[in-house]
Amino acid sequence: MSTSRRDIPAGAAVVTGASVATDSAQAEDSASSHDHDPDHGHSDVPSDMALRVKSLESLLVEKGVVDPAALDAVVDIYENKVGPRNGSKVVARAWIDPAFKARLLENGTSAINEFGFAGWQGEDMVVVENTPTVHNLVVCTLCSCYPWPVLGLPPTWYKSMAYRSRAIIDPRGVLRDMGTVVDEDIELRVWDSTAQQRYLVLPERPDGTETLGEAELAALVTRDSMIGVTRLGVGR
Ligand code: FE
Repeated sequence: MSTSRRDIPAGAAVVTGASVATDSAQAEDSASSHDHDPDHGHSDVPSDMALRVKSLESLLVEKGVVDPAALDAVVDIYENKVGPRNGSKVVARAWIDPAFKARLLENGTSAINEFGFAGWQGEDMVVVENTPTVHNLVVCTLCSCYPWPVLGLPPTWYKSMAYRSRAIIDPRGVLRDMGTVVDEDIELRVWDSTAQQRYLVLPERPDGTETLGEAELAALVTRDSMIGVTRLGVGR
């Protein structure tokens, strides 16, 4: 079975969570369709849906079921306290510790949890490794599924229709527009996130970083490199 294509024809399906499941025992029971959890944040919700959510929140607060301070605290965690630096720490550890890297690629959820990074939108993590011959790109074609515990909240462009649709049809074009040229001889793998399964790209360790420590390496790792829209040391 192939989980990638060198050239992705227009309209072709991207690599799905189901395809990954055949390669990964941890994902055996992943849904074959892009099945979305109604509780998680979608970007393109109709305006009436946003109003319904707000109304529901107001009602729950009014009834004393939900503490608004608790809701604010949750939002604050993902907006300000959890961010791509969590993912950066994971990547840096993988660069310096081959045993951790092996665990990370074998079971992303478990290895990431060694840092204490876990929870909403990170229950079933798959880490995909960039190499000199393979580049990975992550998208959520239906909405904005994203690994919150390691990357925080998704950037606006990740949730845009333009990115979500073009990442499938013309991934090299999307990357080029974002300043990242992936040569034709590099295999490009596109991973479609779902409510069940989220992806983190393990970027290549940049050349010339052999003497850097773990914290210094982590500082080099960008959010975009862990989504796969940039390559460290290449492009922007
Ligand atoms: Fe989604």
